[in-house]
Amino acid sequence: MRRALVVVDMIHDFAHESGALYCGPSMPRIIPVVRSEIERARASGEPVVYLTDAHLPDDAEFQMFPPHAIVGTKGAEIVPEVAPAEGDVIIPKRRYSGFFGTDLDITLRERAVDTLRLVGDCTNICVLYTAADARNLGYAVEVVRDGVTSFDEGAHRGALRELERTLGAKLV
Ligand code: ZN
Repeated sequence: MRRALVVVDMIHDFAHESGALYCGPSMPRIIPVVRSEIERARASGEPVVYLTDAHLPDDAEFQMFPPHAIVGTKGAEIVPEVAPAEGDVIIPKRRYSGFFGTDLDITLRERAVDTLRLVGDCTNICVLYTAADARNLGYAVEVVRDGVTSFDEGAHRGALRELERTLGAKLV
């Protein structure tokens, strides 16, 4: 097995209380978990890949959600508590799935990765749809239960169930 840690959307607009779409009171609980996962991955030579929402000012997604993560604004920046280091990979994305319209798949294949370990937010949106595409592409998926969160607790729990039972992800 060759695993990569995938850190989903730990950006200001989701992960900081002044952000446009703050994930809510559970965010401070996951930040130390995400940080320790990043430290563990770096120490063991596991690639660390950050996915970051990165929208245009008039992005179609804003028909459904308030404007957030606009490229070039603070809202789109990774929060300092889980900052990237040299050698980490940052992949901007415009849709929920980190695979859609990005070079995530080839980035992982170049590193011979076959297993993704997911942390970040939101469990029921970007984590879930990234996991779904990962499974469609043949990757094994692990989700760190205490390292993912959502603004919607019920949807968070439902997504964990879906990840495990329908997508065959391993909750760790
Ligand atoms: Zn978005």
